[in-house]
Amino acid sequence: MNCPLCRGEMKHGTSHILIERGEDAVIVIIKVPAMVCEQCGDDFIDIQVTRKIEALLKKLESEGLKMGFVDYTRAA
Ligand SMILES: [Zn+2]
Repeated sequence: MNCPLCRGEMKHGTSHILIERGEDAVIVIIKVPAMVCEQCGDDFIDIQVTRKIEALLKKLESEGLKMGFVDYTRAA
C-alpha cells in the first residue's frame, strides 16, 4: 500500500487518535494499529479498527470517562 498523500511506502505501525466530545471531554486512544507512511508520517486506520474504537468509546462513556489515555491493545 502507498501513501495517498505523498505516495511513499506505508508500513504496519501504531498511531493514536484524539477524540473530542464537546468542551470537556478529551480521550486519546494510544497504540492503535495503523499503516504509517515512512515518508510523511501520515497514518491510515482500518475500518475494522475504527469500529472497535467506536465500541470502546461507547463503553468508556458509559463508565463516565471524560478525559484520559486509553491503550487500544488493552481495551480491544
Ligand atoms: Zn506519505
